[in-house]
Amino acid sequence: MSELWDTIIIGSGPAGCTAALYGSRAYLKTLVVAGYEAGGQLMLTSDVENYPGYPEGVQGPEMMADFRKQAERFGARFVDEDATEVDFTKRPLTVKTPTASYQGKTVIVATGSSAKWLGLSSEKRLQGRGVSACATCDGFFFKDKRVVVVGGGDSAMEEATFLTKYASEVVIVHRRHEFRASKIMAARALNHPKIRVVWDSVVVEVLGEEKVEGVRVRNVEADRAEDLPTDGVFVAIGHHPNTDLFRGQLHLDEAGYVVPEPGHETQTSVEGVFVAGDVYDHRYRQAITAAGSGCKAAIDAEKWLEAQGAAAELAAETRAP
Ligand code: NAP
Repeated sequence: MSELWDTIIIGSGPAGCTAALYGSRAYLKTLVVAGYEAGGQLMLTSDVENYPGYPEGVQGPEMMADFRKQAERFGARFVDEDATEVDFTKRPLTVKTPTASYQGKTVIVATGSSAKWLGLSSEKRLQGRGVSACATCDGFFFKDKRVVVVGGGDSAMEEATFLTKYASEVVIVHRRHEFRASKIMAARALNHPKIRVVWDSVVVEVLGEEKVEGVRVRNVEADRAEDLPTDGVFVAIGHHPNTDLFRGQLHLDEAGYVVPEPGHETQTSVEGVFVAGDVYDHRYRQAITAAGSGCKAAIDAEKWLEAQGAAAELAAETRAP
């Protein structure tokens, strides 16, 4: 049989890396299937100002490189491939990537969540030609240009504020007349001289053939459409959990988030499979809370393995000679 890991962690954001740190430091033989885009959503973030321990703030990618280094220091092994298939129906548990099949006594699911899109065909057609879901990745291309940001949450505020570094004008299009974002982030956007808001409006089409030239927005109160010229559209309307891989294997809720067992923090519907981070937490979704749950999942996996070991010993002791 191939090498047997004590724990296989799927995902390498704050949850996965923290689980790897705690797992490897507890002498668990720990593998992280980190994904082609290792590091999770913080790789797409610029300044992280709210992670304790960085009084001056830190760049997301820099922080994730530190997280990984810290886990590797205690022996966690990382493979930078996506998990493409899992089999939790028999033991050992199996996690496959395009090039390998890994066997684990436990698995920690920490695959996080991904950006949502509006679902317009014009949005899809112009992705990479002015339509983006990541200002940190693509903002640079909009120096002295006009951009539209869609959404009213913290992500939209963050993207809009970040884009003012480059763009000549940032227009936030929000479907209601009130932001969902935290007061401090909303105020920062609202008070910025380069940012204006189009309230009560939805983007119904992205305009342009080869590249973005504008958006058609419909005011939902007045039921009136208007075209806004723009060079870029940043969609910042939330996220969905990365759980396609686990359909039919783990208990998921209607929105696709992993559901822990009643009375348990990180134990899933399959014994020995634990969950951490945004893939099950749609309420807090912060780096610090994801890291905290990664720690809990690793401790739960360790305790579970200990209990299995104790059960095996007990079974051996009570077996007739
Ligand atoms: P969110 O809080 O769910 O906000 C999504 C926004 O997009 C809402 O304003 C929503 O409108 C709008 N929206 C959703 N679907 C839409 C659609 N189809 N068309 C138009 N608008 C749509 O998501 P988020 O902003 O990504 O934030 C997620 C979590 O991460 C939050 O807990 C947030 O605090 C956190 N976060 C924190 C930071 C930070 O502290 N640095 C940065 C980013 C995110 P409605 O308001 O009408 O529902």
